[in-house]
Amino acid sequence: MPYEYFCRACDAVSPERHSRRDDAEDELAEHRRAAHGGLAPAGGDGVRAVHDAARGDGCLPSGSWLFVLFLLAAMLSNCWGR
Ligand SMILES: [Zn+2]
Repeated sequence: MPYEYFCRACDAVSPERHSRRDDAEDELAEHRRAAHGGLAPAGGDGVRAVHDAARGDGCLPSGSWLFVLFLLAAMLSNCWGR
């Protein structure tokens, strides 16, 4: 499973995924050094595993969008039914 670095303070993610977690952590250290003076950003950062099939948006696993769509469809059809 590939890994990517993310920084919530800068709203930044790795431009490309790394097959090894160590590589993403190197990028984390590099970003902290370049953008945050070597400190951890207050907004949070870290390394996360990403699924090969779907990148998702970082907030929700991609599968949960189907569930949200289903809920929306159920709500809409409920309104139309009245
Ligand atoms: Zn940052």
